[in-house]
Amino acid sequence: MRAMVLKKIGAPLEWTELADPMPGPGEIRVKVAACGVCRTDLHVVDGELPDLKLPIIPGHEIVGRIDAIGPGVKGLSVGQRVGVPWLGHTCGACDYCVGGHENLCDRPLFTGYTRNGGYATATIADARFTFPLGEEGGDVALAPLLCAGLIGWRSLTIAGDGQRLGLYGFGAAAHIVAQVARWQGRTVFAFTRPGDVTTQTFARSLGAAWAGGSDEMPPEPLDAAIIFATVGDLVPIALTAVCRGGRVVCAGIHMSDIPSFPYRLLWEERQLVSVANLTRQDGINFLKIAPQVGIVTETTSYPLDQANQALADLRAGRFEGAAVLVP
Ligand SMILES: [Zn+2]
Ligand SMILES: [Zn+2]
Repeated sequence: MRAMVLKKIGAPLEWTELADPMPGPGEIRVKVAACGVCRTDLHVVDGELPDLKLPIIPGHEIVGRIDAIGPGVKGLSVGQRVGVPWLGHTCGACDYCVGGHENLCDRPLFTGYTRNGGYATATIADARFTFPLGEEGGDVALAPLLCAGLIGWRSLTIAGDGQRLGLYGFGAAAHIVAQVARWQGRTVFAFTRPGDVTTQTFARSLGAAWAGGSDEMPPEPLDAAIIFATVGDLVPIALTAVCRGGRVVCAGIHMSDIPSFPYRLLWEERQLVSVANLTRQDGINFLKIAPQVGIVTETTSYPLDQANQALADLRAGRFEGAAVLVP
């Protein structure tokens, strides 16, 4: 197999030839057809996440077909199309796992971070943490659903039922969440980098009732806001934009420091929460409604060996929607 491997923090990924891995007990080998590029991958290559073990193959929005099955795997077959998400493994025994919060497991493995991911021609996955995808939809179009979609869905659920929803940072996740929220009958307000007219137009094309810079206040107070951008300065701004009892959800795995802010921004039962990872149930729920919503993902494809370019373009905001690597 071949892969784009992170060997040193901050260095470009290296195109590397590796021995074909064999699936162990409970595992499958997936021939990768497409792998989305997520903002979290930038945090991995930049060394912003703790306990990174090198070398590692990034990538956790994997669509592919099973081409080998390890002992003890039930219900999956060779040739079947599956998705491999961020949550790669949990212990199944800690209080969080037993209590239905496996996203907070004491001993998890994360695809493309603490176990090898999908910037490769093949990957090994724990079969229980993969999702059968069926045959509807193209591989590239589906890839962003595996993280941007799933984490976006969990964030939207945790944001509550509020009618007026603000989305700060209109990238891969928000462009999917906007479509789901519109389908649910909500009103979407999109916030981009100030002056990013292209992305604001893109947000309106996906049904946003209003789009503007993150330095602007929405035309009416929000019931909830989800912050997808990795910018801590947005927290007090979003708290200012939500109404009494409103909720602000931080959806990213990493964020710059949050500046201090007056207590009155939190007063009146405003809530500030974060979202971490996903549960398998999130995946099942989201992948069930995705076809009903008719989600259309905006993607830019790159050959697998151009992963460094895809990461650079994501960092610079050079495309709308999501980048997807194709081996
Ligand atoms: Zn656990
Ligand atoms: Zn991700």
